[in-house]
Amino acid sequence: MPHKQYAVIGIGRFGSSVATSLSKLGFDVLAIDSDEHKVQDIANFVTHAVTADSTDEEALRALGLRNFDVVVVAIGADIQASILTTLILKELGVPQLIVKAQNDLHGKVLNKIGADKVVFPERDMGQRVAHHLISPNILEYIELSNDYSIVELKAPKFAVGKNLKQLDIRAEYKCNVLAIKTGNELNISPYADDVIKENDVLVIVGRSEHLADLELDYADS
Ligand code: ATP
Repeated sequence: MPHKQYAVIGIGRFGSSVATSLSKLGFDVLAIDSDEHKVQDIANFVTHAVTADSTDEEALRALGLRNFDVVVVAIGADIQASILTTLILKELGVPQLIVKAQNDLHGKVLNKIGADKVVFPERDMGQRVAHHLISPNILEYIELSNDYSIVELKAPKFAVGKNLKQLDIRAEYKCNVLAIKTGNELNISPYADDVIKENDVLVIVGRSEHLADLELDYADS
């Protein structure tokens, strides 16, 4: 399978992290920014780095952006530039457009004009830090929708040696255990009689308010 071609527009903190991470993973990355200093700084870490204003349709056309599989728009503060860039890329026919949003309203507009995925890195990381503060046992928190989330948490001491039936997370919290991680092993769709071991990680899905109750109860280890 040929490697996908990626382009990242806007090489701020988020964009440069996306671009260099893809590059480290072995993918071809074109990085674009209107600030030539940003372009110089990233040039050694990506396949190509170009200075261009992404609100200039001709410039994007000339760079052949419609031939890229995935384009990430990581322009934050200048919401107008972010929206214009997204519109132009959509019209050029980019197959997958991922756009960073500054706030909810910006995100709504991006969805309306055809962004395939809208990401809110500051909001998401803020949520994760908050959940980690409630309990250091919480390793990961992913919001699936307005109502549902997935949480990954280290099994508290009281759960060790018990099976899922005894913990009865479904009845107590109306949440479901999707998987149990033991080291690198992942037990997907565990059975009711599977026993929790020390240092196991539970992956649980449920309504966010129900998960919040569980997070508090499972905070002590
Ligand atoms: P981060 O938090 O990721 O650092 P940010 O949300 O503060 O980013 P900005 O710094 O405003 O976002 O934008 C990210 C980058 O996008 C900047 O390097 C900026 O030069 C670039 N940028 C802004 N407008 C354009 C444009 N029209 N064309 C190309 N690049 C642009």
